[in-house]
Amino acid sequence: MSDCLFCKIVKGDIPSSKVYEDESVYGFKDINPMAKDHYLFIHKKHSKDFIEQVSTDPTQIIDIYKAIAKFTKEINLDQSGLRVVTNLGENGGQTVFHTHFHVLGGEKLRGFGA
Ligand code: AMP
Ligand code: ZN
Repeated sequence: MSDCLFCKIVKGDIPSSKVYEDESVYGFKDINPMAKDHYLFIHKKHSKDFIEQVSTDPTQIIDIYKAIAKFTKEINLDQSGLRVVTNLGENGGQTVFHTHFHVLGGEKLRGFGA
């Protein structure tokens, strides 16, 4: 989508700190990290949130999770542990309306009973 921030990042029109790319998925560092390691993983095809994504093409979510698994194994983040989060809508705290999965780790994460 032409006016979407993350579509512009995928196209290279807006700079990002890329950590991962394959034919369908793009991964980059979050500009405002909420943990020592904080990455965002997105599909190159635009959808506004995971509900739209799963109703349009559920295989995109598999593509993203495969990419996260490959990347986190490569940097050994799977060994120390990590969290994957996707926000939806206002109460979920979504601010960018291109489906994205936060990958958090590198330190002990708070919340969710931790
Ligand atoms: P959410 O609040 O779940 O929609 O997450 C949006 C995330 O995008 C936030 O964690 C922001 O810090 C991050 N963000 C916004 N703009 C950029 C950017 N240009 N490059 C990298 N991350 C960004
Ligand atoms: Zn987009």
